[in-house]
Amino acid sequence: MEIINALYPLLRSPKKIVITTHQKPDGDAMGSSLGLYHFLVKMNHDVTVVSPTNWADFLSWLPGVEAVIDFEAKQNTAIEKLNQADIIFCLDFNIFYRTKNVEKYLAASNAVKVLIDHHEQPQVSAFQYGISDINKSSTCEMVYDFIIQSENPELLDLNIATCLYTGTMTDTGSFRFPATSASVHRMVAHFKDMGLQHTPIHEQVYDSFLENRLRFIGHALLNRMDVLYEYNTAVMAISRDDIIKYDIKTGDTEGLVNYLLTIKGIKFGAIVIDRNEERKWSFRSKGDFDVNEFARNHFEGGGHKNAAGGRSSQHLEKTLAHFYEVLPKYKNELE
Ligand code: 5GP
Ligand code: MN
Repeated sequence: MEIINALYPLLRSPKKIVITTHQKPDGDAMGSSLGLYHFLVKMNHDVTVVSPTNWADFLSWLPGVEAVIDFEAKQNTAIEKLNQADIIFCLDFNIFYRTKNVEKYLAASNAVKVLIDHHEQPQVSAFQYGISDINKSSTCEMVYDFIIQSENPELLDLNIATCLYTGTMTDTGSFRFPATSASVHRMVAHFKDMGLQHTPIHEQVYDSFLENRLRFIGHALLNRMDVLYEYNTAVMAISRDDIIKYDIKTGDTEGLVNYLLTIKGIKFGAIVIDRNEERKWSFRSKGDFDVNEFARNHFEGGGHKNAAGGRSSQHLEKTLAHFYEVLPKYKNELE
């Protein structure tokens, strides 16, 4: 994989570009994709953002979101764009399988593939150009660097800043996680100097849910949480019935796992949600416990040291039992 700066000359003439990201895109995935989208459109490229799946309603106000193609809803258009692309940007993921049904089109494509990502253990051989840096707070911050270091940094505008602020905010837990470096705050200062209003962004993302979601969280905390002080661990399992009863949609469970770490002494939080096709795990930790390794070793997943995800094709009870089975192996690390 060549360094990303080697790409700038290629962008001097108009190209057909697709930007894609991981399935069920979060704030960083959508924010970085749309931030880069606005920048490349201003450089006169023909740009399409393809999301492998739908996304949370709390991201549906992002500037440019109406132009994003949901692969599952508009497969033919998405496939056509992927097949015609000269360049495909892959944002906020580093292994093709994270793009669900888009995976096989990425693998088959002859387009120049560009990686911009901050997850552990990238599959660098799959990309011609790119940057992978696990020390970066977010892919949004990396897209900001990409724009600032490009031949056209003056194209940065408020739409781009809004998108990039959103993803940096969500991936840093509102600027509190360890990866929130001085450069993150410098970027935000730059956005503020441009006139960015940050309060409406926080309100759109964190204060725009329906009542049912808050009642669901109450139910989950009261009835679905198990705290294992012996392992400084808390785990939560959400059934299909819970999802149906509270009418839980994409994005409504985002952040639920973080509540587990608010208990004093708890270093490892895990939540499993019974989705239609699979049981989806989210893992979070504080300090040295490496949930990326945990997810890779036991739940076909990965991510970062303190935030990772995984999956299982087993029933909810089975995959939860597996969690309880492997946990004791980590007793020393969790002490
Ligand atoms: P979340 O728990 O919010 O879904 O994901 C936490 C972090 O782990 C995110 O950075 C996400 O991109 C990553 N992640 C989630 N699920 C998976 C997975 O199945 N495989 C890999 N490699 N990373 C994942
Ligand atoms: Mn990210």
